[in-house]
Amino acid sequence: MSITLPPLPYAFDALEPHLSRHTLAAHYGHHHAAYVAKTRALIQGTPLEAASLEDIVLSSAGRDSALFNAAAQAWNHAFYWRSMVPGGGGEAQGEVAQLIEEAFGSQQAFSQQFVAAAGDQFGSGWVWLVLDGKRLRLTATSNAETPLVTTAVALLTIDVWEHAYYLDYQHRRLDYIAAFLGHLIDWNVANERLAQTLNPRPGVWSGTPSPERSLPGTLG
Ligand code: FE
Repeated sequence: MSITLPPLPYAFDALEPHLSRHTLAAHYGHHHAAYVAKTRALIQGTPLEAASLEDIVLSSAGRDSALFNAAAQAWNHAFYWRSMVPGGGGEAQGEVAQLIEEAFGSQQAFSQQFVAAAGDQFGSGWVWLVLDGKRLRLTATSNAETPLVTTAVALLTIDVWEHAYYLDYQHRRLDYIAAFLGHLIDWNVANERLAQTLNPRPGVWSGTPSPERSLPGTLG
C-alpha cells in the first residue's frame, strides 16, 4: 500500500508563535493522521490499494463520498503543510508576484481578497490560490472539496476548518488568516509549483489531473 502519512516538513514548534506546537501536534498527529488511516482502511483489498493518493481522490470524486472525503483531506492537509514555512509571509516575489499583480491589481488587493474569501467561508473548508489557465484566482471549497479534481492547479492553501486555529485563536479566524499571510505563507513553494506547472518535468507530480480522467466538476 502506497498511502502513508507524509512527514511534517518542520518541527511541531517551528511555526510558533503564529501556530503553536499544540495546534500542529493535534492537527497533524490526529486530524491529518486520521484521514490517512481512514483512506488506508477504505482501499484495503480494493483495486485502489496500490494507487497514488491523487488517483484515489480522482477516482472517488462523485462516486464514493466516504473515500473521497478521507483521501481528499489527506491530500489537502499534505498540501497545506507545504504552503507554510517558518519565517514565511509578506509580499510574494518572482513569477507568482507578477501574476498576482495581473490578476488582482496589487499585492495589497490580493491580501484583501484572500482575507475576505477565507473569512467568509461558511463552516469548514479551504481557500486556495490556483492557476486557472494562465491566470491566478482565489477559490473557496467546502469540507474536503479540492481543486485537484478540477482543471485549475493549486499553488497555496489555507485550512479554515476550526481545528486549524481554534486552540490558538478561538473564534478569531481573521487573526489566524492575518498570521498566515504575514508570517507563514511559503511563496517559494508557490513559485516552485507555478514553474512545475508551466514547465512540467516528467515524473514529477504537477497537481494536474491526468487528461484521460473525467473531471467531476469545476469549482466556482
Ligand atoms: Fe485541517
